[in-house]
Amino acid sequence: MTSSARPHLNRRLAEFGTTIFAEMSALAVATGSINLGQGFPDTDGPEEIREAAVRALRDGRGNQYPPGPGVPELRTAVAAHQERHYGLSYDPDTEVLVTAGATEAIAAALLALVEPGDEVVALEPYYDSYAASIAMAGGRRVPVTLRPHEGGFRLDLDELRAAVTDRTRLLLVNTPHNPTGTVLDRAELAAIAALAVERDLLVVTDEVYEHLVFDGARHLPLATFPGMRERTVSIGSAGKTFSFTGWKVGWVTGTPELVGAVRSVKQFLTYVASGPFQYAVAEALALPDSYFEEFRRGMLARRDILAEGLTAAGFEVFRPAGTYFITTDIRPLGETDGLAFCRALPERAGVVAVPNSVFYDDREAGAPFVRFAFCKRQEVLREAADRLRGM
Ligand SMILES: *Cc1c(COP(=O)(O)O)cnc(C)c1O
Repeated sequence: MTSSARPHLNRRLAEFGTTIFAEMSALAVATGSINLGQGFPDTDGPEEIREAAVRALRDGRGNQYPPGPGVPELRTAVAAHQERHYGLSYDPDTEVLVTAGATEAIAAALLALVEPGDEVVALEPYYDSYAASIAMAGGRRVPVTLRPHEGGFRLDLDELRAAVTDRTRLLLVNTPHNPTGTVLDRAELAAIAALAVERDLLVVTDEVYEHLVFDGARHLPLATFPGMRERTVSIGSAGKTFSFTGWKVGWVTGTPELVGAVRSVKQFLTYVASGPFQYAVAEALALPDSYFEEFRRGMLARRDILAEGLTAAGFEVFRPAGTYFITTDIRPLGETDGLAFCRALPERAGVVAVPNSVFYDDREAGAPFVRFAFCKRQEVLREAADRLRGM
């Protein structure tokens, strides 16, 4: 949507109208389609965690403003989670901050760390809030495009190095990566880390899909690489890890200096959020390994159902190693324009997807790619697959 349609929106944000998700979700409702556009699960997370939230509400925990940095129980649980899964040690009092979802963490980090005119290098396609948050901070985004390569989307390390200039302040990384499903491997992450150290860059890393990795891939937090702990703001979220996207509980870990900067901004965005849910998420983070394993396995089965359906329907499927999204190429169907394809798909097949081009500065580069979410019940995915095959 152009600025002329939104005459009051300031120039920094003029290019950001309503998101594609609003348009596509409205289309889904209007046509009675299966919505594989927006990435939220159609089943809630663990019953015992829902009950923990109810208990907190009833017991009067978190019904009034919780502490600005987050309730101590949750900050302790986040620190314990980073230690248990990655061997990363953080002080719950000075190195952990609870946010209103990862979205606020991203916005607060960029507003805190970027000076107007600073360049922010981000992987493209990018999660839609990145571009808006960089713009709100007055930064300039410099995309580095992940390109199709041997069945997945890979980072070209030479392109990444070439994107860094004397004006670059920060690298904004996302792994596992939405929308491509790419999980950056050890060599790629080591190269990113070496570059950040060499050019003295800060790094913000969005790891909300940290527990959704498949086929033997491993999620390696950037903060575990040499020289990175002191320059990295790491972001996680209960929405994706525990299937409670409506609770909007996220967190940031990093040095006291970095977390302190993010906290300074966060206090003037929401100040605090999600009081009772913070207690429930503290319990969720302490769930046994079996929870994380079953969650992963359940999502893997769904990935395979949808991937098979999409392949049978004629799409080229980039089998994701992480996240709950599948990116497809529509060219084998004789199509080239993902946006037009997605606008027509509800009528043609009763399924909603989103065009990856909206996640690109270089819309041309993203044009033939379309994203489907598989965080839905298996019968829903089977029905969607049938509809697509009959298209
Ligand atoms: C969903 C998502 C977020 C937002 O997480 P919330 O906790 O719901 O704010 C951030 N980054 C990526 C890559 C996502 O897919």
